[in-house]
Order: sequence, then structure tokens, then C-alpha cells
Amino acid sequence: MERSILIIYTGGTIGMKQDPVDFTLKPFNFGQILSEVPEIRKFVCRVDTYSFSPLIDSSDAQPEFWIDLARLIKKEYANYDGFVVLHGTDTMSFTASALSFMLENLEKPVVFTGSQLPIGMLRTDGKENLISAVEIASAADEQGRPIVPEVTVFFDSHLYRGNRTIKYSAENFWAFRSENAPALADTGIHIKYNIDEIRYPKQYGTPLKISETLDTDVAILKIFPGMRENMVRALVGTKGLRAVILETFGSGNAPTQKWFLDIISEADRRGLIMMNITQCIAGCVDMEAYATGIELKKMGVVSGYDSTLEAALAKLFYLMGKYANNDDVKRELNKNLRGEISI
Ligand code: ASP
Repeated sequence: MERSILIIYTGGTIGMKQDPVDFTLKPFNFGQILSEVPEIRKFVCRVDTYSFSPLIDSSDAQPEFWIDLARLIKKEYANYDGFVVLHGTDTMSFTASALSFMLENLEKPVVFTGSQLPIGMLRTDGKENLISAVEIASAADEQGRPIVPEVTVFFDSHLYRGNRTIKYSAENFWAFRSENAPALADTGIHIKYNIDEIRYPKQYGTPLKISETLDTDVAILKIFPGMRENMVRALVGTKGLRAVILETFGSGNAPTQKWFLDIISEADRRGLIMMNITQCIAGCVDMEAYATGIELKKMGVVSGYDSTLEAALAKLFYLMGKYANNDDVKRELNKNLRGEISI
């Protein structure tokens, strides 16, 4: 049977054109994108398109937009074998991380892609990214089951698990990296799938569920030498806050100044969720390695393991939306839910 793919266009550089008046990049009509890539019509699968309105620069993508996207995928889930989401690169890793949690029991590919240069430009990377994303989203095994039934990001020859990616370069075509997890596929003459790394459903046939409640009462505290007590106190004391992500040094270390540890232990007593992730783009938090990390562990800070900031934030939004009790959230944070951490 013919396979079918839905391309969802949300905005981003891939579909932008230079405004002749102020020379900034602005989104243009989606119909034009397909006319720039007539090759799409040569696929042996059916390719339909859906365009968001309004189209956005991904810097404007908010959790409400993630919910709209998840709802659209749920609505069209039975009608397509896979989805390609065209999205701006700036926050693609945030949206892909969020969708990886929000789409529960996912059995079909959701491939995010975009480009560094608009699709109408001669040297664009958009064509190759779009064509390969469609091919990956439609790839199936002999039983007709998708080869990559996950939320992924395809960019410049590499397919990564979405919740492992970060935007790494504002200049290079290889704009995304996944430092703590290998590529799920690499494209060259052939598309080579890294089957052992792809996550497959334990059992097929469970209906897709989407999580539409996200709790965003989270603050991020990036630790730096010279941090001021009043700044940390104000941030951690923010009214209504449920969680703080501590972006720490190296393998999860923070200063041991008394005022800092006092603020953290007070926050723990108040029941705040505190999650430790590293500022390094590769490697894992280990709160047992140094005295500076052990102090945080003693104060109830939970490890974010080797999570990206994007995945940590999305996981917190998702879990806090699901559980009213912070102990439940902390328990779930320690689990590998969607391949976002290496445990
Ligand atoms: N500002 C654009 C966006 O994220 C950049 C891009 O698409 O590459 O929407």
C-alpha cells in the first residue's frame, strides 16, 4: 500500500524570503516551498502539506504552540505513516524535546527539519534536509512498520533523537549536535540506520495520547563565578516557582559558599524541585565525584544525568503538568522516559 506523509510547515528560515524594503527574512507562502522542491513529487508515497497560520520564527514558539502541534499530529495520526515538521532552527531542539514527551505511545516517525539558508537560495541546505526527512519519515521494514518511530531531528546528513539535540552552530550547515547519544541514521549514498540505537514500542497498537497540560513554573540558574547572593535569592524565591534547573560546572559542581548552600537547602525544605544538569555539552552529571557535587545531592538536588537543557526543561514542564505532587515529579525525573538520558 502507498505510504503517506504529512509535511507540517510552521515557519523558520527554510520558508523565508528577504523583504525588499527592510531586508529582514520573512516567511512566505507554503505553496512556494513545494514549487522550490519539485523532487518531492517524485516520491512513491503520498505527500500532503499543512501550513500553520500564522507562520512563526521559532523564537516565538511557546508551549501553546507545542500543544497545537501535538493536537494536529494526533488529529492526523491515523491518516499518515509519518510526519515531517518544518521548523525554525533556533528552538527546534526545545520543540522536538517537548513533543517527545507530549506524544505518548508514539509509533510513527515525527521528523523535524529546517535549514540555515532559505529554500529559494542557490546554496540552500533546505532541499536536501527536506527530501531526506521525507524519505526517513516514510521508511518502513518488511512488515510495514516505521524504521524510526521516534521524534527526531534531521539536519545535514544526520538523524538524531530530538530530545538529545542542541543547536550548535549559527553558521554551519551542520547546525545540530547530539553529543551524548549517537546518530540514529546518517545519509550518504545510502541512508544507514543505526537500528540498535532506535527505540521501538514494547508493543504496537496502543493508541497515541497527547499530554496537553504543561506546567512552566521553572527557573534556570546558570552557575558562574561571581554570582551575587541577592540575584540567586530573588530567582529561587520567585513566587509560584515549582522547579529550578541548576546549570552547574563540569560533572555537576557548584560553589560551596555558605550563603549559596543555605539558599539551596532552604529551597529544598520549601519543597522546590531542583535538577542538576551540566553546562558542558558532552558528559554526565555525577554528584558523587567531588565534594562540591556531594553537597548538592545532600540538599535534595536530583541529577539530570546527561540531559540537554532543552530536554530537562521539557521533561519538567511535562511531568509537572502531569503530577501535582513534587515527589512524584522527582521520582519520574530519575527515569529514562524517551531516551533523553543514558540510564
Ligand atoms: N530565526 C529562525 C527560526 O528559528 C532561524 C532558522 O530557522 O534557522 O525560526
